[in-house]
Amino acid sequence: MTDFVIAPPPQASVAVRNSAARFPVRRIFCVGRNYAAHAREMGKDPDREPPFFFTKPADVVVDNDQEIPYPPETKDFHYEIELVVAVGTGGRNIPADQVLDHLWGASVGIDLTRRDLQLAARDKGRPWDFGKAFDLSAPIAPLTPMFEVPSVEKGRIWLAVNGEIKQDADLADLIWSVREHVSILSHSIVLAPGDLIMTGTPAGVGPVVPGDIITGGVEGLGEIRTPIGPAL
Ligand code: MN
Repeated sequence: MTDFVIAPPPQASVAVRNSAARFPVRRIFCVGRNYAAHAREMGKDPDREPPFFFTKPADVVVDNDQEIPYPPETKDFHYEIELVVAVGTGGRNIPADQVLDHLWGASVGIDLTRRDLQLAARDKGRPWDFGKAFDLSAPIAPLTPMFEVPSVEKGRIWLAVNGEIKQDADLADLIWSVREHVSILSHSIVLAPGDLIMTGTPAGVGPVVPGDIITGGVEGLGEIRTPIGPAL
C-alpha cells in the first residue's frame, strides 16, 4: 500500500442506471463544435475540419437532480446538452469500426459553460479552461450500459429551461460521429477505462439564471434535471 502524505481525493464517479454501483471517472474529453447549426451560432464555419477537443477535470461531474450554485466570475452561464459516452476498455489508434466495442455505456449530460470567459479566452488565443473546466460544470445522468443503448448515432437530443424547449436535434446531425471522433481522439492520447467523452452540443445554447431548472434528454438514454441555485 502506498503511504500518502495527505488523504487521497475521493474517486470521482457517475451513477449507473438501475444499479447501486457507480462508474469511476478518469478524465473528461469534450468535442468542440460538432453540430453544424451550433458552429454557425458560435460564429464559425461548419466545414468538416478535423474535430478538436478540450477537457474538464474528472471531479466536476454532478449527479442528476443536484442543484448547482450559479458559478463565480460570469454573467453569461450557458447550458449545452450533449450525448456522453463512457470508455470501458482503453486503447490507442482504435479503428472507427471498433470504437463501440470499447464503450461501457452512454448517457446524457450538460457541458455547463461560462460563455463570457470562454469567448474572451478564444478571442485572445488563450486556453478555454476557465470557461469550461470549472467546479460542478458537468451534470451527467445515470449511464446506460452499452447492451441496453439503442443507438449513439441517431435519436432525439433536447434541452428545456423551465419547460421551454431550447435545443432540439438528432444525434444523426453530429458532424463527426461517435465512432469517428473517438477513433480520432485515440490517435492523440491513449484512451483508458473511466474516460468520458462529451460529444458536442446542437444549436440553441443560451443562458440560465438562479431559479431556472434545466431538463434534457437523449432518446433511449433517460433524462437529466439540473436546478440552478443562487451564487455562493
Ligand atoms: Mn460542449
